[in-house]
Amino acid sequence: MKPFTFIQAGSTGQAVAEMVGHSMAKFIGGGTNLVDLMREQIEQPEHIIDLTQLPLTQVEEQPDGSISVGALVRNSHLAAHPSIRQRYPVLSQAILNGASAQLRNMATTGGNLLQRTRCYYFYDETARCNKRQPGSGCDAIGGFNRIHAILGTSEACIATHPSDMCVALVALDAKVIVEGKNGQREIAFADFHLLPGETPHIETSLQPDELITTIIIPPLPFAGNSLYRKVRDRASYAFALISVAAAIEVENGLIKNLRIALGGVAHKPWRAYRAEEALAGKEATAQNFIAAAEEELKSAAGFGHNRFKIELAKRTIVSVLQLLAGK
Ligand code: SF4
Repeated sequence: MKPFTFIQAGSTGQAVAEMVGHSMAKFIGGGTNLVDLMREQIEQPEHIIDLTQLPLTQVEEQPDGSISVGALVRNSHLAAHPSIRQRYPVLSQAILNGASAQLRNMATTGGNLLQRTRCYYFYDETARCNKRQPGSGCDAIGGFNRIHAILGTSEACIATHPSDMCVALVALDAKVIVEGKNGQREIAFADFHLLPGETPHIETSLQPDELITTIIIPPLPFAGNSLYRKVRDRASYAFALISVAAAIEVENGLIKNLRIALGGVAHKPWRAYRAEEALAGKEATAQNFIAAAEEELKSAAGFGHNRFKIELAKRTIVSVLQLLAGK
């Protein structure tokens, strides 16, 4: 690991100022991904700004019915919070499906958004990787790509975003509050992560000096009927091949409200807008669920080893919707 300087920030303003003052700086919260990346020399920060003393550790119900989650709330705390379990079970389930208990005890909400892909070639210094070294090529395309993306890919990168929590948050229309040298701003969760395009090394819409301070989960009464299903190679401590986060409200047999998001399929948590649109106001039947899943995966493309994901995604969407609709 390369030597670095270290400072403990006493305020969000100080944390941002430290970032502005150093060109090769990184924030650290739980460190569950950053430290691994530093050990592998994928990340080589010269200055580390520790955030753990900042007052961003609360989960709070707001007067408008939303819930604010501080960026330093540990994953385990958020998953166990009574309001999250009761009002947004999909979020609690998604978090508990991620990593191990030990990692969830360390990992923070803000850090979860910023974790890097688990593409094997990204971690292999001898491989070509446009994300690690822009312009060098992508060894996953034409290589072993069983875990890679099927939607929103580019010729530069077919990596997936590894988070479970973020799949639930994009389904819930969460917002990300960030603070930078020009003050605070709000980013819709669906706009926070980016598709790879020609610049897969740029993964989010965060500016270099910006710090995530809070996640806002808006009120969504029908999210009480929600579910997260993760399909993976082993029962725990594995990343999603496919995951589905969904919430549904059915009235008189018709779909009144619906949210669907997919994990393990794209460079970002994938909101299934096409499937949602296809099902709006329709009867909650298996036939309609199948048609909607087909619609969502219409533009999907595999790269050899990962072609099975297209059918798997469709089936997982249908089975989750059937369960939630009581079919
Ligand atoms: Fe790198 Fe993306 Fe290709 Fe993986 S898929 S090798 S992260 S460019």
